[in-house]
Amino acid sequence: MNIGVWLERAAARGPGRPAIYLGAEQAFDYAGFDATARAVAGGLVAQGIEPGDRVAIFMANSPAYLLALYGAWYAGAAVVPINAKLHAAEAGWIIRDARARIVLVTDRLAQGLGDTGAAVIDIAAGDAVMGAPVTGVAARAPDDLAWLFYTSGTTGRPKGVRITHRMLVAMSLAYLADVDAVSPEDATLYAAPMSHGAGLYAMVHVLRGARHVCPLSGGFDEAEILDLARHHGRVHMFAAPTMVKRLTAHARATGATGEGLRSVIYAGGPMYLADIIEAVDHFGDIFIQIYGQGECPMAITALPRSDVSDRSHPRWRARLGSVGRAQSVVELRIGDGEGQEVARGQAGEIMVRGDAVMPGYWHNPEASAKAFAGGWLLTGDIGVMDTDGYVTLQDRSKDMIISGGSNIYPREVEEALLTHPALSEVSVVGRADPDWGEVVVAFVVIAPGAVLDVAALDAHCLARIARFKRPKQYVELSDLPKNNYGKVLKTELRARLDG
Ligand code: ATP
Repeated sequence: MNIGVWLERAAARGPGRPAIYLGAEQAFDYAGFDATARAVAGGLVAQGIEPGDRVAIFMANSPAYLLALYGAWYAGAAVVPINAKLHAAEAGWIIRDARARIVLVTDRLAQGLGDTGAAVIDIAAGDAVMGAPVTGVAARAPDDLAWLFYTSGTTGRPKGVRITHRMLVAMSLAYLADVDAVSPEDATLYAAPMSHGAGLYAMVHVLRGARHVCPLSGGFDEAEILDLARHHGRVHMFAAPTMVKRLTAHARATGATGEGLRSVIYAGGPMYLADIIEAVDHFGDIFIQIYGQGECPMAITALPRSDVSDRSHPRWRARLGSVGRAQSVVELRIGDGEGQEVARGQAGEIMVRGDAVMPGYWHNPEASAKAFAGGWLLTGDIGVMDTDGYVTLQDRSKDMIISGGSNIYPREVEEALLTHPALSEVSVVGRADPDWGEVVVAFVVIAPGAVLDVAALDAHCLARIARFKRPKQYVELSDLPKNNYGKVLKTELRARLDG
């Protein structure tokens, strides 16, 4: 089925129900959302879009984003969501690689795109995107492309992941089964880019006929997010770990309680234990962790709040530090790198298969072949599963450091260092070393008012982790290099050491 059908059905069930808000103001009810998406689809069809064509969306979060998304689906097109914060040259590369026929832009994002081969429709410049409304929703098969997602490129060039209608249906149903309940009275607040997880969750909220709230700022502004949560109530939102950290710091500084925030789903990168405990201490039991990757979007594991609500549980900290258990629509194994499963409690590569897993990359048979072994997706992430099925991520295999023949997971060293009050951010990488193969280097951002005291940090590590894991070198930075999703770019840190 075409995932867009859920909007048609929600509009039929409750045409007058509030659907989309810009800030505090209602922009569309469900009948209006559906009718406008039909007009967008009509406009795309008039421009020559046929089922299977790619329509890129290069826009900041806004009501127009949701209309573009569903308009494209109603027309049978696949969307190529592009983070509005990307440089025009990066966006241009994605549009060309996707062979998109049309790119929908706002906010003058079209400037600098260059020749992409796609027709640019700049809504902000008044370009017409609407036409005679389509009456039906174009038929699509489960394995047809719905969403062509480009990975953030943390480990190299972004790859286009083919996300099908079947995968989106599976991901949405798993959300309702394993992550959180959503009622039609609830709202989803787009605090993180809709080109990523937040946008994928639009489908779940359309399915349930819930409200969609777009911040006026189009981005993540702590004060605005907390105001909108208070105003709308029953708010769910997706946030990257860095956003959770910023929100907690802001709320602690201003005394805000997070009224109206019902669920904060965090994913996309490591959440350090100290940070999540601080967030829970301040906001209470509203956090849910997801582990996923473009290749199995938002659907590998989930740590729902019921799993971590009992603080007296002997394994509470371990569970809070885990990414939870496999979601209902996938099978998960920890493998030895050669397709064999390792014993519980042993580290290995996380492998998944099931309806939420991609069929392969876009026009990249070589990378697609390498991504699978015996039908299992190789995630490139190293993890351990306990006897209850909880998975703790250790690191990406590419980030693992091998020093003197022993494996060191940077995340463990980072967790240890972050408990030191003088540090506000840490990222640990390996540096090539003639004697040891690699040695551990810590890039640190010093907390306001503190100074870098290497001897104190070394003693702190010695009290917490094995001797051989402690950093041999500390490099102070004012900021860690991050991509637009807030992920630390370790390749850049390693390059600094080489340079
Ligand atoms: P590329 O594949 O191009 O290097 P990327 O891996 O950053 O880019 P994404 O698909 O956006 O692209 O990121 C997925 C990765 O993010 C996962 O494989 C995992 O390493 C990390 N990740 C996702 N969720 C979590 C989580 N809850 N905790 C820790 N890490 C996570």
